[in-house]
Amino acid sequence: MKNTVSKTMPSNTGFNAFFTNCCSACEGHVKSVRREFSDQAWSALVAWKEVQSTAVDSPLCNDCYFNFRDVLIERADEMKLMTANVAAKVASASLALMNGKVARA
Ligand SMILES: [Zn+2]
Repeated sequence: MKNTVSKTMPSNTGFNAFFTNCCSACEGHVKSVRREFSDQAWSALVAWKEVQSTAVDSPLCNDCYFNFRDVLIERADEMKLMTANVAAKVASASLALMNGKVARA
């Protein structure tokens, strides 16, 4: 069975509608929907103080959603860098484990 998405909704892969009348980010009493951002996207938004960590994976209003989306698009390179740094740290840590010694800072 397929999910039906109303015409007013932005088309989004894996869209999982969950409505409330309160936005977790701006705390406005407006129709809000849980948005499907990736874990990296949420971490980046929290790191940039665009959103409280408590709002992660919670319903957002359209204004906040489009605002966050714009931020993520504008700062896509920074997010890539952040993700790459984390990946590099994990890689060097596991390499150090394989070599049986701790990597020097
Ligand atoms: Zn909002």
